[in-house]
Amino acid sequence: MGLLEVLKFPDPRLRKKSQPVKEVTQELQAFADDMLETMYEFRGIGLAAPQVNRLDRLIVLDTRPRDADSENARYESSPFTELEEKVEQPLILINPEIIEKEGSTTYDEGCLSVPTFFETVKRYEWIKLKALNREGKAIELETDGLLSICIQHEIDHLDGKLFIDRLSTIKSNRIKNKIKSQGYPEPEEPEQE
Ligand code: ZN
Repeated sequence: MGLLEVLKFPDPRLRKKSQPVKEVTQELQAFADDMLETMYEFRGIGLAAPQVNRLDRLIVLDTRPRDADSENARYESSPFTELEEKVEQPLILINPEIIEKEGSTTYDEGCLSVPTFFETVKRYEWIKLKALNREGKAIELETDGLLSICIQHEIDHLDGKLFIDRLSTIKSNRIKNKIKSQGYPEPEEPEQE
């Protein structure tokens, strides 16, 4: 077990397309567990393998309400839709593929690979998905709400795409140029216990 390094835009490795997983090995399961640990450590609600420098189609998610600093804090007051409620989390999804989709919704998305930036992105409201679970078993699930948004965001990573690519060209370029010229703000010092 261990924390993994999260790659940050404009790292070119985030632009590569991930490949389907052929076999769910113990090594892959352990890696997925490390991804979850890393995601929790940085208060994320989803993480895709290419963000931690591995080009496998593997994502992990947990959108359940946690502390006030996490990216899902906005949803604390109205945590889950009925469909989200039915999905057991955390989720480890291997070779995830959206097979049906409907409606549209927006959310102020953030990303551990683009820290401190939040922008409104349009996504499908409802999705049906097939994937393999941690044990390599084929599963299907449907969801809406924050979990649906988050799954779509993470699958984008598997195709080398970031949420800042989904903004208007002007906005997208402004953010990318800002990061390239100024980098990211220094992380705050952790509070002393
Ligand atoms: Zn992301």
